[in-house]
Amino acid sequence: MSDDCLFCKIIAGEIPATEVYRDEDVFAFEDISPAAPTHTLVIPVKHLKDVTEAQEEDDALLGKLMLVANKIATEKGLIEDGFRYVINTGSHGGQTVYHLHLHVIGGRAMSWPPG
Ligand code: AMP
Ligand code: ZN
Repeated sequence: MSDDCLFCKIIAGEIPATEVYRDEDVFAFEDISPAAPTHTLVIPVKHLKDVTEAQEEDDALLGKLMLVANKIATEKGLIEDGFRYVINTGSHGGQTVYHLHLHVIGGRAMSWPPG
């Protein structure tokens, strides 16, 4: 846990959030400012500031993030119409919270390219 990290505090229950999934490795919760009807964040319990900080030892953890995201996409009924996974990284990537998170966004049609 990183002491000054918002998402570590959410995992620890120090800041409230709407929990969607939890196990020993992965936590998921609803985005506070949803960009679509479904907008859930899937994060590793281990504090990694972004995806580039992941190392070989984190390969299973990265895979698990995707599998939990798939489970959420299924539970939210997103599979048939499609959805989007997003990992914003660094300032040009639009990252605002420096604890790795996978956005699961769906429930409406989306455009490309991103702004
Ligand atoms: P990013 O811009 O990729 O770093 O995404 C950070 C996301 O965290 C944004 O979509 C925010 O709306 C979301 N967020 C920020 N604070 C909270 C919070 N307290 N609870 C839930 N989601 C949050
Ligand atoms: Zn953190």
